[in-house]
Amino acid sequence: MTDAATKGWVKILGLGPGDETMVTAQVQQVIAEATDVVGYIPYVKRIPERPGLTLHATDNRVEVERATHALEMAAEGKRVAVVSSGDPGVFAMASALFEALELANRPDWLDLDIQVLPGITAMLAASARIGAPMGHDFAAINLSDNLKPWGLIEKRLRLAGEAGFAMGFYNPRSKSRPHQFGRALEILREACGGETLISFARDVSKPTEEITTVTLNEARPEMADMRTVVIVGNKDTRRVGPHVYTPRYASDT
Ligand code: SAH
Repeated sequence: MTDAATKGWVKILGLGPGDETMVTAQVQQVIAEATDVVGYIPYVKRIPERPGLTLHATDNRVEVERATHALEMAAEGKRVAVVSSGDPGVFAMASALFEALELANRPDWLDLDIQVLPGITAMLAASARIGAPMGHDFAAINLSDNLKPWGLIEKRLRLAGEAGFAMGFYNPRSKSRPHQFGRALEILREACGGETLISFARDVSKPTEEITTVTLNEARPEMADMRTVVIVGNKDTRRVGPHVYTPRYASDT
């Protein structure tokens, strides 16, 4: 390994939900030290340009190629920041990078300096705005069936609901799969009961933020889109004034 290569690194970081004050100081420092930034176009747009920094913005759904490119550059001695929104370990680039590392089968890459830096994930940013709906046990579920069969999503929804987990749903409803979220709501009504509270948190921490809480019986599929994280409480989740919270104790299911 050359001298230059020993100085290269890959840091996979989360930019938080949108508000710049929710980017950690650690992440800001890494961005300041990077020579290259790799990521999906809208996230790379959040990085200010400066001399000595090359931005590599790519389309969605090319995560493993993007990650391989990051590893190649680090092996050449570059300091590469791989950016995700929210937290990089939550339905984002951290796993994609390790998949790429495994697939590449390059023993020399196993010695590269690779670090994951956490960020504030959408579910927890939304939860904080709502009150404390994740105040007890919870599950985070990606409702996109790009990388897993829809049948598995139905099973996880049902079992998590029956087990009394509060839930946070990412990628709830896209134009290419408009009907599945309605089906998800049906399953939740059966598994959790129609009076359970559900919150739709759109553009959390951005100027366009919108948060609505209703019961599962009142929930309609159109309340969610790809800019929304959906939070479902458990049967103890309740309102106190304008706040929604889940108590730290659980009644028997
Ligand atoms: N790594 C990200 C999640 C990426 S998946 C994180 O930890 O937050 C993309 C999904 O995240 C979106 O479809 C939406 O469900 C959710 N999301 C991301 N940012 C959001 C925001 N500011 N407000 C509401 N939902 C958001």
